[in-house]
Amino acid sequence: MPAPLRILTIVGARPQFIKAAALDRAIRGPFKGRIEGTIVHTGQHYDAEMSDVFFSELGLPTPDVNLHAAGDRPGTVIARMMEGLERVILELKPDVALVYGDTNSTLAGALAAMRSKVRVAHVEAGLRSFNKRMPEEINRIMADQCSTWLFCPTSTAVRNLEREGYPLHNTGQASLDAPQVLNCGDVMYDNTLHFASVAKERSSVLRDHGLEPAAFILATVHREHNTDDAVRLTSIVRSLIELHARTATPVVLPLHPRTRKRMSELLDPSLHAALSAARGIRLLPPVGYLDMLALETNARLVITDSGGVQKEAYFLARPTLILRAETEWTELVEHGHSVLVDVDQGRILNEAERSLNASPTVYPALFGDGRAAAHICEQILRTA
Ligand code: UDP
Repeated sequence: MPAPLRILTIVGARPQFIKAAALDRAIRGPFKGRIEGTIVHTGQHYDAEMSDVFFSELGLPTPDVNLHAAGDRPGTVIARMMEGLERVILELKPDVALVYGDTNSTLAGALAAMRSKVRVAHVEAGLRSFNKRMPEEINRIMADQCSTWLFCPTSTAVRNLEREGYPLHNTGQASLDAPQVLNCGDVMYDNTLHFASVAKERSSVLRDHGLEPAAFILATVHREHNTDDAVRLTSIVRSLIELHARTATPVVLPLHPRTRKRMSELLDPSLHAALSAARGIRLLPPVGYLDMLALETNARLVITDSGGVQKEAYFLARPTLILRAETEWTELVEHGHSVLVDVDQGRILNEAERSLNASPTVYPALFGDGRAAAHICEQILRTA
């Protein structure tokens, strides 16, 4: 029997722990013996609520290495991550380095592995928002350029890569100069299918916060583009307060640590006080994945700037308003299930009221067959 293929998974941020859980189930399940996995955590997200809870809830093993490379200045953080990752890669000599999504950990991981001559697999390749002012867009383009396997979650992502000149029909051995593009489906969809019933059984978040199914709005805000801009953040907060005032529907807002910090730094003190005092707006700490799934499943409407939450809302057939001018998940908008409202108060209120009164619609399957992780493992084994 050939030696197992050694895959080094590089994670660092909340959505990556969640995505890694799907691959980890495959590597330690059906691919056991053929693939050997090691996990390195860059330390980008480090506290219990943003990191540890996902490892315990999702059954993800404690990372083999933690680089503790958190910080505020992106250049310094990326450099620190790359330095640590290069050391780990030279020591472990993996066959493949696997990175997810579009964070600074993705960029650092892809660059460090590529420069150490280790082939990179990028999960969530090919996504484009066509807004390079967002650091995530640069991170995803650069990660794709460093990759040997580009695992696309949707056909739109494949088309984006085709437009950029990536070959679509390379079936031989994969290399940096002959990369492979595969539409494997979305690992987050794998996870939603896997964990939805677990969340139903184990999460008490609705009971804990006195929420009735289908009678609250779930909101999340964490993109730097929104949190670090006083005008945008103010508009979002005013809109949520006004939305509650008009509809009397509770708004649940699990706060990313950056958002909480920026709210106290950037909001006018009277608005900050009004937000904290608004009884219908429930400001929660970040919640674990199972609680989040329970909230998404039961929300009447989701309002978010998160890529992952947009998609999960779609998987769970919840109408969504996206607090951005554009999205890399364009099919959600094209099919009319999500609406781009940016941070325009008038649009947020109108679209929210329209969604709250609309009748339920059908959400066609656009994100694969729920076996994205298995497709990824099979493809790497076949073409490594
Ligand atoms: N999430 C969570 N708790 C929260 C907010 C989000 O578990 O309080 C999960 C959410 O269900 C999704 C992922 O985190 O799976 C999305 O991550 P995030 O919004 O941080 O990043 P993005 O997807 O925008 O990159």
